Amino acid sequence: MIDRRARGYPAAGTVDVVVIGAGHSGLAMSARLSGHSIDHVVLERGEIANSWRHERWDSLRLLTPNWQSRLPGYRYAGADPDGFMTMPEVIDFIEGYARAAAAPVRTGTTVVSVRSVDGGFRVVTQRGQWRCRAVVLASGAHHVPHIPACAAALPKSLRTLSSKDYRNPHDLDDRGVLIVGASATGLQLADEIHASGREVTLAVGEHIRMPRVYRGLDIQRWMDSVGILDQRYDTVDDIVRARRVPSPQLIGSPERATLDLNTLTERGVEIVGRFVGVNDGVAQFSGSLRNHCAMADLKLTRLLDTIDGWVARGRNYGAVAAPERFAATRVDEKPRLSLDLNKQRIGTVIWATGFRPDYSWLQVPPALDRKGHLLHEGGVAGVRGLYALGLPFMRRRKSSFIHGAEDDVRELGEHLSAYLFGFSQASSSRRA
Ligand SMILES: Cc1cc2nc3c(=O)[nH]c(=O)nc-3n(C[C@H](O)[C@H](O)[C@H](O)COP(=O)(O)OP(=O)(O)OC[C@H]3O[C@@H](n4cnc5c(N)ncnc54)[C@H](O)[C@@H]3O)c2cc1C
Repeated sequence: MIDRRARGYPAAGTVDVVVIGAGHSGLAMSARLSGHSIDHVVLERGEIANSWRHERWDSLRLLTPNWQSRLPGYRYAGADPDGFMTMPEVIDFIEGYARAAAAPVRTGTTVVSVRSVDGGFRVVTQRGQWRCRAVVLASGAHHVPHIPACAAALPKSLRTLSSKDYRNPHDLDDRGVLIVGASATGLQLADEIHASGREVTLAVGEHIRMPRVYRGLDIQRWMDSVGILDQRYDTVDDIVRARRVPSPQLIGSPERATLDLNTLTERGVEIVGRFVGVNDGVAQFSGSLRNHCAMADLKLTRLLDTIDGWVARGRNYGAVAAPERFAATRVDEKPRLSLDLNKQRIGTVIWATGFRPDYSWLQVPPALDRKGHLLHEGGVAGVRGLYALGLPFMRRRKSSFIHGAEDDVRELGEHLSAYLFGFSQASSSRRA
């Protein structure tokens, strides 16, 4: 598990900055720190690009097109800029970046605690301790599955999985599957599992509907150009809510197909309302399905209006196709409100209900709120010298995407450099 480049490197010591996590975020910060000759180390519990290697299902492709896969000083250079990377391709891309940036990564090094000491930090790993003046948390946002408490009442005979544990339909028995959550993950799994011949019921709450292609261009091209992905956290009325908005219903496929609830209904997936509980082996769904779908349709129309307005103001790519509007989401007159899990032969429940980070090892008390979420202002934590990267809508709407690291790392890198400079000055005046 130890990275070849890490052999012979010390597993402990003193550096200016410890970066935790060698996903794209940690590597992007490492490249920035190296560019400014700031002494640092990147500690990674697994391998480079660990989440993409071990926490994603087999058929997943990025939902962002290749042209959008860019990191500071590095971008996709292949022959298919409009394609969507498979998982092995994403791993190659991130590994290539680590090599290009000559990132000082220590793989197989799990951080077990971070504590404040003498105005800096002590970072303890299972292989040794690091002292540093600043810590960058680039440890990801998808550690603990967000599973509703009422799930505890599910019959023990059912298999329950989070989307992190699911790999492919062959892992499942041949009975029906209830998937809870209708963001990109829930929809993709529903489609794949249904195509494998299993009955699928999809519980749908708040969701974001999006076509893959609009007016002849990929929707991500529009989102990028119109500036939606660049929207800053400090310009949003309710950032707490904005950070909880689910991922858009998109899939990256060679066919550039749209995958929405209408597609799934046509294919035979049963759509029901939000999962609200289980009573005597009977799953209960809320009656809010129609409202959630109407809200998603309305938001989709607003998005398309924004794009059309941008085109009408002449800021376009030349000739683009005419505006179009999509059929409203079709909802049964009387959608099912309950499902007898035994009678309907449900064998598996998959939670596609999102994740939250696990900072149980971050023992710097004012850093976390009561629920264990990091308290931060655009990635700058409440504790001096502590920074985060890659969290949802952290500084911009695109912060959790690969290409979001570019701007975030530049800005947080500046903040961090200024902090280290101030720290050095304070230390020298104390010595004087
Ligand atoms: C299903 C799914 C699909 C996605 N699709 C896209 C997409 O199409 N396009 C896009 O741009 N983004 C996509 N994302 C979002 C985003 O790119 C990922 O969440 C990305 O992995 C976040 O990168 P990161 O570097 O911040 O964190 P991660 O890639 O999660 O890296 C964090 C690293 O920290 C390590 N770590 C964690 N805890 C410790 C510890 N205690 N000690 C040492 N190391 C630790 C982990 O092993 C991991 O390697 C997707 C995310 C998911 C979940």
